Amino acid sequence: RLLVVGSVNMDLTVTVPRLPGCGETVLGFEATHGPGGKGANQAVAARRLGAAVRMAGLVGDDAHGAELRAALAAEGVDASGVGVAPGAATGIAMIMVRPDGDNAIAVAPGANAALGPDVRQAVAGGGSALLLQLEIPVAACEAAAEEARRHGMLVALNAAPAPAVVDAPVARLLRLVDLLIVNEGEAAALGGDGTAAGLRRLGPDRVVVTLGADGAAGADAEGAFQVAAFPVPAVDAVGAGDAFCAALTVGVAAGLPLRAAARRACAAGALAVTRRGAQGSLPRAADVDALLDR
Ligand code: ADP
Repeated sequence: RLLVVGSVNMDLTVTVPRLPGCGETVLGFEATHGPGGKGANQAVAARRLGAAVRMAGLVGDDAHGAELRAALAAEGVDASGVGVAPGAATGIAMIMVRPDGDNAIAVAPGANAALGPDVRQAVAGGGSALLLQLEIPVAACEAAAEEARRHGMLVALNAAPAPAVVDAPVARLLRLVDLLIVNEGEAAALGGDGTAAGLRRLGPDRVVVTLGADGAAGADAEGAFQVAAFPVPAVDAVGAGDAFCAALTVGVAAGLPLRAAARRACAAGALAVTRRGAQGSLPRAADVDALLDR
């Protein structure tokens, strides 16, 4: 059983021939809206991979919020920890994605920003692992992580988006983390030499750095390692990181060695880039098994 404490957003996506520059308008192709937010995406990803998942977070008192809570429930995620922030709007992500799958994203946090340290109340009884991201206030992450440690849960953090500065609250949070997952940009933002081994010095015992089409690099007490990516036709990179984080956390929580869990996570990430969308692209356990066996 996994608890995700994190963001719940409505994704508004437009496919564009190329990303616009400052002051420029680009005529795009189709527009879609659908459930997103790194927290909700990772909760749904973990559920599709077979874990029992509970989610805690905040949506606004609006139609988007109701739709997103219903979407979590429809996926089989226990959304009883997702509250409604009075007077706040549900978080929104505006996504532009190119035909080759690269994207640019702006997020308005809305209700997600109202999540406070009292989220610790949602942690007790949450299960064997807690998975966090940085689309909610660091103080909420820290409180949840503290409470999870008190209950002997594994604490995983996907430090995304990258913090603007590694201030004292971020440094304290990192010391509460057992499993840190970052991409290359986030690794650089956290400081040190940006390698998985270097990031371990910030506190986490296990670190994995995702490298896009180059797979992933990791480090734990046994040493450093690389995992190759699964070669796939890339359609849309949205969702790859979320699928990776969910698969890695579910694997480690189930007792897999870090390297084996990272290989599974690379397969999950690869499957997500072959399909469009944030949650629509998240693979199921059987798809991951099939790619691993191929
Ligand atoms: P983020 O989207 O968070 O920046 P990455 O781009 O590093 O994360 O992707 C996460 C994981 O998804 C990678 O570690 C890799 O395993 C997988 N992945 C991403 N892009 C590709 C690709 N083009 N081909 C195969 N696997 C990919």
